[in-house]
Amino acid sequence: MFQSTKDLNDDLLVPPVPESPAPAYTALPHRDVDFFLAPLLNGQIGDIELETADGKRFLVHKKLLEQETVFFHIYYGFIPVWRLSNTSAGPPHPNIPAQAPSALGGLLNLSKIIASHIRASIEGDAPPHLPPKDPVTAPTPTTTPYTWMVPETSTILAAFLTLIYPRGTFATPHEGALGSLDITGRVIRAALGYQSAKALNAARDRMYHFIESQPLETYATASFFKFTDLARLASKSAVRIPSSQWSAETRQLMGKHAAARLENLQRARQEGLDQILSKTCHADQHSASCTQRPHIESTWRERVQEVAKDLPIDSDLLELLEVDLRGIQCGDCLMLLGTTIRESLYEARELPVCC
Ligand SMILES: [Zn+2]
Repeated sequence: MFQSTKDLNDDLLVPPVPESPAPAYTALPHRDVDFFLAPLLNGQIGDIELETADGKRFLVHKKLLEQETVFFHIYYGFIPVWRLSNTSAGPPHPNIPAQAPSALGGLLNLSKIIASHIRASIEGDAPPHLPPKDPVTAPTPTTTPYTWMVPETSTILAAFLTLIYPRGTFATPHEGALGSLDITGRVIRAALGYQSAKALNAARDRMYHFIESQPLETYATASFFKFTDLARLASKSAVRIPSSQWSAETRQLMGKHAAARLENLQRARQEGLDQILSKTCHADQHSASCTQRPHIESTWRERVQEVAKDLPIDSDLLELLEVDLRGIQCGDCLMLLGTTIRESLYEARELPVCC
């Protein structure tokens, strides 16, 4: 069955695989399985297997993992190649081409998989399954240094890989892979675990997208990861949600300090707005004797009471401008009311907006 694959190779005029030096990835993971995900990188099939917490198997590229994560860079950088090869998986097989170096690699691999399945069913020689394992809390090599158990689920690992592989390798764009704040947070955890700056930056940038729909949760997640700028920006909107409505989970995620900061911001804004709206209308010598003065005062008072009802805490008090000026005949009094409103708007603008 392998022979037929080789013939296919020849027919398609695939460039020959270099004989030497022997590739470092000779102790390859078994590939005669249905991988959940096996991205093609410039037509190359992967050489590292990652098995997720939910038991899905990924075939990925050592070179790319080394490039994009400090974790794998250090792991493979510090362990000599001879030791990596000298495992229970047996001696290296330099004659077996590790990769089908063409864009048709996926197709060829598919035929190889089919071939091996058929062979396995004929010979009763199924590829050995990995022994059952407990869930891991950190990436852990298993049968060979090329086969890993990782703590992430398949959804999170797929999203993480989408961020570190070159754009276009996956059909799903970043936005699709990071479809929710929860997933994005978990991918950030993975990016921190594997120490991948590329994934971390991409996932953090993605979090800005959730400020509008989930300001409080975004504030909490950003505070958890100490993304100061993002937390500050999210707090502008999160301030609207009274702390009595925060879920215990969200409160725990943001932590004591971030919770205190946001509650202080809410308090400062509430007190500031109350103070502005409790002011009386400006007065001067003229207003003391003007017959229009009571009308002006009641106009201001009514407007303030109306605005104070259900006032959003992040309000800039522009609502005050919708004052009803009909029936006011004294220009001087009108000026005084205008000055009062203008000053109120300035004061509202001075209130803290974020934390
Ligand atoms: Zn007047």
